[in-house]
Amino acid sequence: MRYISTRGAAPSLGFAEAMLTGLARDGGLYVPEAVPVMAPDEIAALAGLSYEEAAFRVMRPFVGTDFTEVELRAAIEAAYRGFAHAARAPLVQLAPNHFLLELFHGPTLAFKDFAMQLIGQLFQIALNRDGRRVTIVGATSGDTGSAAIEAFRGLANVDVFILYPHGRVSEVQRRQMTTPVEDNVHALALDGTFDDAQARLKDMFNDFAFRDAVGLAGVNSINWARVLAQVVYFVTAAVSLGAPARGVSFTVPTGNFGDIYAGSIARRLGLPVERLVIATNQNDILHRCLTGGRYATDGVRPSVSPSMDIQVSSNFERALFDAYGGDGNAVAQLMAELASQGGFTVSQGALQALRQIYRSGRVSEEETLATIARVQRSTGELLCPHSAVGVAVAEKTRDPAVPMITLATAGPAKFPDAVEQATGIRPPLPARMADLFGRPERLTRVGNDLGALQALIHERRRR
Ligand SMILES: *Cc1c(COP(=O)(O)O)cnc(C)c1O
Repeated sequence: MRYISTRGAAPSLGFAEAMLTGLARDGGLYVPEAVPVMAPDEIAALAGLSYEEAAFRVMRPFVGTDFTEVELRAAIEAAYRGFAHAARAPLVQLAPNHFLLELFHGPTLAFKDFAMQLIGQLFQIALNRDGRRVTIVGATSGDTGSAAIEAFRGLANVDVFILYPHGRVSEVQRRQMTTPVEDNVHALALDGTFDDAQARLKDMFNDFAFRDAVGLAGVNSINWARVLAQVVYFVTAAVSLGAPARGVSFTVPTGNFGDIYAGSIARRLGLPVERLVIATNQNDILHRCLTGGRYATDGVRPSVSPSMDIQVSSNFERALFDAYGGDGNAVAQLMAELASQGGFTVSQGALQALRQIYRSGRVSEEETLATIARVQRSTGELLCPHSAVGVAVAEKTRDPAVPMITLATAGPAKFPDAVEQATGIRPPLPARMADLFGRPERLTRVGNDLGALQALIHERRRR
């Protein structure tokens, strides 16, 4: 199984190398050369299996021979052992033919744990085998950082530095990043937005001397292994509602496009997915692009769903690559235009290809809060604001005849202020993390300056 870059000018890699590398050396993202297909009877046979067994069967062909069957099974078992729900990704019903996929039963209460816990395990196996060390640098709007720190804290051959936008993450998110005591963990509060953090991270990857000197590894949502881990719950959810005999649609609260892109892979491997609906908050670059054909940045407006406060949606590059028929040159050109002019226009053909798969919707701040309140009243389910964006868009766009599965991307306790504002109920933290507010915090304020960041990483990383 080989992985190629969306910009067509980097060497192809196997699964493990693509995972350890993150971003391709031509600035592109790794995608499978060909998506392995599951036959309908193989998909049907997943019904009733444990999440772990289903995960093994779905991921195995993508992993190739880079990990043995025994290694992959062990990694999956260890990854999901700490989840607080036996089903891992349980499905609850909100209304006739509308379901909520709860992805927040992992250690940091967001869907990011599904991928991060698994790649934490796979990194350990790969690094131990080769006697290698890496420096993980991540940019986060809140949830990736906490999930990465939780997955990599205390590992002997990994140092982890997480850049988050100072003052723009929730207190629970911040404390999950700043309270781990392990000395391989570094929370860096950047003066700037998430997009600034992500841009500095890309700069570090494009500085090959720095990249090689520190053994830079990326675990942001552009990491292919993360996308792959997320494919699994699209499959298990659809199967539990009758796939492959019955088609389903998904609505995905979207920021960096990693989660919904995993849905498109599930579709290509044979799952009958009718629609993938992109749900955005007021930072709606993807909705504007899908409806108007122009992808143009215009600044981030902080919202009650901060994990989606993003303008440059990194994984959208993968969808563009697919929509342009795998033409890496065309994608490289669009990305160069984005960098130099702040936007680009998608060709008519590519836009049509995108609309074959994706729909989109945008939700205002008021609608988000009203949705949290309404769903609480009608079902008792407390939604986090991101999940509420998803539910609101799903309600507006869904075909009542097709089961709609909306992804609940975080738990309400991770965003208690918004939930309390909407419902008057303050969701408590689960008992296992009840002392979060009593633990001392450790963080470093940093400017939006590449040189200073690189110096700090050189100095702090262990050798
Ligand atoms: C990361 C995140 C999102 C957005 O997911 P993408 O894969 O970046 O599109 C949505 N909701 C929550 C709670 C998140 O943490």
